[in-house]
Amino acid sequence: MALKKCKECGNEISSDAKVCPHCGKKQPPTKRAKLGCLILLMVILIPLLVVIFQSQKAPKKPTRTTTAPKPKINVTKLKQDIKILTENGLLIRIDPQFNEAFVNSIIWYRLDYQVKENIAITLASYCEAIGEHEKWVEIKDHRSGKKLAKYSVWGFKVY
Ligand SMILES: [Zn+2]
Repeated sequence: MALKKCKECGNEISSDAKVCPHCGKKQPPTKRAKLGCLILLMVILIPLLVVIFQSQKAPKKPTRTTTAPKPKINVTKLKQDIKILTENGLLIRIDPQFNEAFVNSIIWYRLDYQVKENIAITLASYCEAIGEHEKWVEIKDHRSGKKLAKYSVWGFKVY
């Protein structure tokens, strides 16, 4: 332990002493004590600054969009469309779990390509909404099970 002289009374005292044991005068902090304070301050301040810096940086990050937000499907409207198709005698049965729709092929063959495609889109949307699968459907003849058409993200195809 190093010794130093008290500035007040001149007696030798420990350099670590905060108060002179002779006269009671408060001693100025030593360089070592100052350094200790500085290190302690940095230990507290640096993580604090890092936290502040990161919290300010965080909101600027673009929100993660791993999947594009799906447009809201109007299930009520789809159910109505399915009901209409069924009432018209075209749609016999739709199985959203297997993305299959069984139709009356006699009516189906009479439809225009564009009408067929619109129906297929409705059926695929229904499968997507109810079956919670991808938006696609296979349209089959309800008697023979023969594939008539398919709608998927790759487009509409008539067999
Ligand atoms: Zn003293």
